[in-house]
Amino acid sequence: MRLLIWIIILGFIFWYFSRKKRIKENDKKSLVTELVFDENCKTYIKKDKAIKVDIKGKTYYFCSKRCLEEFLKKI
Ligand SMILES: [Zn+2]
Repeated sequence: MRLLIWIIILGFIFWYFSRKKRIKENDKKSLVTELVFDENCKTYIKKDKAIKVDIKGKTYYFCSKRCLEEFLKKI
C-alpha cells in the first residue's frame, strides 16, 4: 500500500515537471519569433502574423492584405 502511494507521488512529480518544461519551451518559441520587414509600410512585423508572398522569386512579407495590394500596385 505504501509503495503504491510512492508511485503515485513520483508519477505526479514527473508529470508536474514535464508539464513545466513544456510551458517553458513554448515561451522560448514565442520569444524567438522572427521579425520580418514590410516593404510597403516600412515596419517590422512578426513573421507568424505576416502575409507571405512570393513575387518574382523573392519572398515579401506584409502586415495586412491592404499593404500587399498597395505594394503590388507600386511594382
Ligand atoms: Zn504594412
